[in-house]
Amino acid sequence: MANPNKDSSLPLCRVCREKPTIRAHLLPESFVREVFHGPKNDEKHMIVHPDTGLKFSSNTGRFEKDILCADCDNVLGTYEDFAFRLLKRLRTVEVGKKVGTRTDVSVGTYRFRVDVVDEFIRFACGILWKYSSTPSKAADHIDIGECRAIFEDICWRGAPIRRWVDVFIERDLFAFAAFPDPQQVYYYCSPSLGRRGYKTSHDLAWFSVGGFIIYVKLNQPGVSDYALKKCWMRGRTDCHFIVAMRSLEVNNSIHESIGMTREDLARLNKSLHAKFQSGELSPTRRV
Ligand SMILES: [Zn+2]
Repeated sequence: MANPNKDSSLPLCRVCREKPTIRAHLLPESFVREVFHGPKNDEKHMIVHPDTGLKFSSNTGRFEKDILCADCDNVLGTYEDFAFRLLKRLRTVEVGKKVGTRTDVSVGTYRFRVDVVDEFIRFACGILWKYSSTPSKAADHIDIGECRAIFEDICWRGAPIRRWVDVFIERDLFAFAAFPDPQQVYYYCSPSLGRRGYKTSHDLAWFSVGGFIIYVKLNQPGVSDYALKKCWMRGRTDCHFIVAMRSLEVNNSIHESIGMTREDLARLNKSLHAKFQSGELSPTRRV
């Protein structure tokens, strides 16, 4: 008897090619929900594309309905949960002091340990796979060429992480400097692509979640000097993250985006704030 799923008109999962797809979040819901805006409850946030002026409201972030089945999405969920907990822990590491409007940052590398080797790299590859699997006309679609198939094997088929695929993380100093509480998260940024390096130059992808910028080396031969050797995480449990002023430039378009959405956010969350101020809603109670 034929597989009923294969006979249906529902799109099939791009990974297992057997089961029907679900609405899969491009960025895990946990990362979206931690974004801070007033009372941390069911507030809405805005998704903005500063280059096109496109903006729309969202509860739990953007999802794509034609890429993953529930089982394959769950596989990725394990890596995403690991990454979420790791970045939350690393945000508590003091990288500078904020006194009034003044921010003093101690640049350098900061040591940390991970429990499971390469789990974080699988997470980063999974995020890039999802954004490269959206329709090519989508505003946040990325084209990572051969890496899409390589990352699919890394995330879902247990493939070893190739020598020229690697990840490092850098504290997002724009988030640290521009917003009141360094341990909170105020925005996330979908992936960008570009060549980065000093004496060497490599194709990298990067995105921002949890107060960090995550850089991924896209299967390029040679040693990248965009981060010190000890910061590249592949094969390590003893790791280092970077604190460098260059990170201020990476997300500076956020400043413009905040200006574009200030009124939208106020309108969207008006009733929530009113309830909060009247005491009807507590910041820790869900309604
Ligand atoms: Zn599947």
